[in-house]
Amino acid sequence: MIVGILGAGQLARMIALAGYPLGLRFIFLDPSSDACANSLGEHLHGDYNDPRLLAQLAERADVVTYEFENVPADVAAFLAAHTQVHPAPKALAVAQDRLIEKAFFHDIGIPTAAYSAVDSFESLEQAMSIIGWPAILKSCTMGYDGKGQSLLKSAEDLKPAWDQLDGVSAVVEAFVPFNREISIIAARNVSGATVFYPLSENLHRGGILRVSKSCDNDPMQKEAEIYISRLMEALDYVGVLALELFEIDGKLIANEFAPRVHNSGHWTIEGAETSQFENHLRAILDLPLGNTTSVDKTAMVNFIGGLPLTNDLLTIPNAHLHLYDKEPRKGRKVAHASVRAKTTEELESLIKKLTTLANQVDNS
Ligand code: AMP
Repeated sequence: MIVGILGAGQLARMIALAGYPLGLRFIFLDPSSDACANSLGEHLHGDYNDPRLLAQLAERADVVTYEFENVPADVAAFLAAHTQVHPAPKALAVAQDRLIEKAFFHDIGIPTAAYSAVDSFESLEQAMSIIGWPAILKSCTMGYDGKGQSLLKSAEDLKPAWDQLDGVSAVVEAFVPFNREISIIAARNVSGATVFYPLSENLHRGGILRVSKSCDNDPMQKEAEIYISRLMEALDYVGVLALELFEIDGKLIANEFAPRVHNSGHWTIEGAETSQFENHLRAILDLPLGNTTSVDKTAMVNFIGGLPLTNDLLTIPNAHLHLYDKEPRKGRKVAHASVRAKTTEELESLIKKLTTLANQVDNS
């Protein structure tokens, strides 16, 4: 079986690493000659919308998937017309635009923060009189890791935030004074079987994920499962899906979803019976889904912008290091490590050791 992947970054790399024990082979399409998954399969080198390469990918791969949601709609449609593509292009179309995504959440009964579309400075001023302060202005498209976002604390912030958007369509949403950020990751196979991972509790700084922890028996697990089930059913979803949520006063509010494997699920490689990467492959190949039960308490720490010495990391008991084979660059995720422990105290102490090392090299 050959799996085609649009994109050859670290997510594609970890999907391929999970696929080798299942006897799978991989073809990646990626414009970058040194993309970090290239060494794990055949690399079609060129633009995502190169018709010749897309035709090759569609012909040679038994199934095509992707590691990012900003796949151009015509590319997804072309591939879907020629081979099996999971998840389906509709999930991409919804996830690519924050406004469409929020309206979709609303239609299927998943709560969001109050929001309003803005297409001019005047409409932003008007929206703020309804949304109230503080709020966040976000570009509708191409925003990730906090990019294209501005916090609006007072009327003085409006003009610079609007100018920074440079005319792209945007949405303004109420700032949620959350108690916790969590995500739920689920997998659904072609036959409709579904599994849910224990919630991840996520710590962001500067809009970028820094630490995720697995949460067994979390009081919010059931509510999160109800919301992600609605999303998967409404999208007739196949593959791994991640839903990012804010918890505030015992209630959940959706922020966004990612139609792919997700950084907040990297802990599942060592921390769950079956990783999110393996379950993504099982789902798109319509294989039985693997057990998602967690093994111990697990946490994952991202290394951003730089790498500590491998020796320093590997002397931490139980640390599992995942280097992405990427040149360190400001704000770039270059590796992660995960740790497991039997008690919360032990886990927190291991997280502290990892974050101390991560902070020493972090230039984001
Ligand atoms: P996003 O790109 O929408 O995932 O936002 C990146 C991060 O910014 C989130 O993980 C939160 O930490 C923060 N954030 C985004 N939207 C809000 C909001 N409405 N209220 C509070 N924090 C937010």
